[in-house]
Amino acid sequence: MFTPQTIKGCQVKIDIIGGGPAGMYFAILMKKAVPADEITVYERNGPDDTFGWGVVFSGKTLANLRAADPESHTEITRAFAAWDNVDVVHGKEKISIHGNSFSGIARLQLLKILQQRCEQLGVQLLFRTEISDFDSLRTNCELLVAADGVNSTARKQYSTHFLPRLDVRPNRYIWYGTKRLFHGLTLTFRENEAGVFAAHSYKFNQTTSTFIIECDQETWEIAGFATMSDDETRQCLEKVFAPDLDGQPLLSNNSKWINFLLVKNENWFFENVVLIGDALHTAHFSIGSGTKLALEDAIALFDCFRRTGTVFDALSEFELTRKPVIAEYQAAAFESMLWFETARKYMHLSPIELAFALMTRSGKVDYEDLKRRDPEFISTYESARKLFTGTAGVPPA
Ligand SMILES: Cc1cc2nc3c(=O)[nH]c(=O)nc-3n(C[C@H](O)[C@H](O)[C@H](O)COP(=O)(O)OP(=O)(O)OC[C@H]3O[C@@H](n4cnc5c(N)ncnc54)[C@H](O)[C@@H]3O)c2cc1C
Repeated sequence: MFTPQTIKGCQVKIDIIGGGPAGMYFAILMKKAVPADEITVYERNGPDDTFGWGVVFSGKTLANLRAADPESHTEITRAFAAWDNVDVVHGKEKISIHGNSFSGIARLQLLKILQQRCEQLGVQLLFRTEISDFDSLRTNCELLVAADGVNSTARKQYSTHFLPRLDVRPNRYIWYGTKRLFHGLTLTFRENEAGVFAAHSYKFNQTTSTFIIECDQETWEIAGFATMSDDETRQCLEKVFAPDLDGQPLLSNNSKWINFLLVKNENWFFENVVLIGDALHTAHFSIGSGTKLALEDAIALFDCFRRTGTVFDALSEFELTRKPVIAEYQAAAFESMLWFETARKYMHLSPIELAFALMTRSGKVDYEDLKRRDPEFISTYESARKLFTGTAGVPPA
């Protein structure tokens, strides 16, 4: 029978499943605060295995990381590629919108920095260790953190407690890299006889960019991806984005088409088990928030342990205070995701109108924000609207 553990002032054992950003960052913060705690991270992959290419952070996230752990923040920012523009490419035109501060880092490099910080502080990292027996793990520690990613087995195992809601979205996407450098977050739209393709790309170091391609189910079927090999898929997409890749190939990292999985959970913890990061919630990659939210979950959970005295109080506080923050992010990410799911209906817009529609798609940025960030962009947009509609100023909602 579980009893709410008093943890303040006691040495505790914390087990964490998943050596991604959420799990390792939580381990770092807890170990730093109470070096005597026994903290173990179980990771089924090796220290150098990873999926994908780069991830992005906003300026605000970086400030949170600096306040939480200056040491890893210094290492992360040292490895960064920074930019302030979003570029929208439609047909032959590229529209740049400035005043959007973002930075990119290779996912593997971020994980390496967090691994080193864990080792420095004395967190035990057990690689190539897959956890399947959650019950015996949780009965032998004060706190079990399930940071085991979007397909969390812990969430499945305790689904009657967490009550997850999983929504498989209709669009398909595939995550490539390329040596063509995109200086800024670049959103490129290309049409062919099959339909509409959107690419989300940005450089994340001096040599490589992330290049994520997304399309709707109809486009995917007409293009014939269902029967193509991985190489044929890559070659087909290189043709679609030939005007943008400058002759550089798309680089695969065992890249496959996937459907985005939207994850929500009714309950965030039960007894001494808590979900964090992608296991707990996802937000569409078009607002680039997955890693940010994972790291900020770790900060929020750590803060709850600092403020309260028992595991039960800390986990209750975490659910109470963090849930509204995540709900707001997921709402914005949902609007952004819907925009991309229906991208074909915007293709008749001129490049400047498309850029405006894109920048305001999530409801988090409006006309006034854009005017403040990039007055030149808004004045070009206004001139175009006057030309098309005979009106200027704030567009109707
Ligand atoms: C196409 C795409 C683009 C993205 N772009 C961005 C972006 O630009 N910016 C951004 O911030 N985020 C981005 N993300 C999201 C980001 O990758 C995740 O949101 C983030 O990694 C979540 O961190 P996490 O620690 O919760 O989970 P993960 O990073 O998934 O880590 C979970 C870990 O748990 C391990 N694990 C799972 N089960 C077990 C088990 N039973 N036993 C032991 N170990 C286990 C896994 O091996 C994994 O290492 C993107 C995601 C996708 C798919």
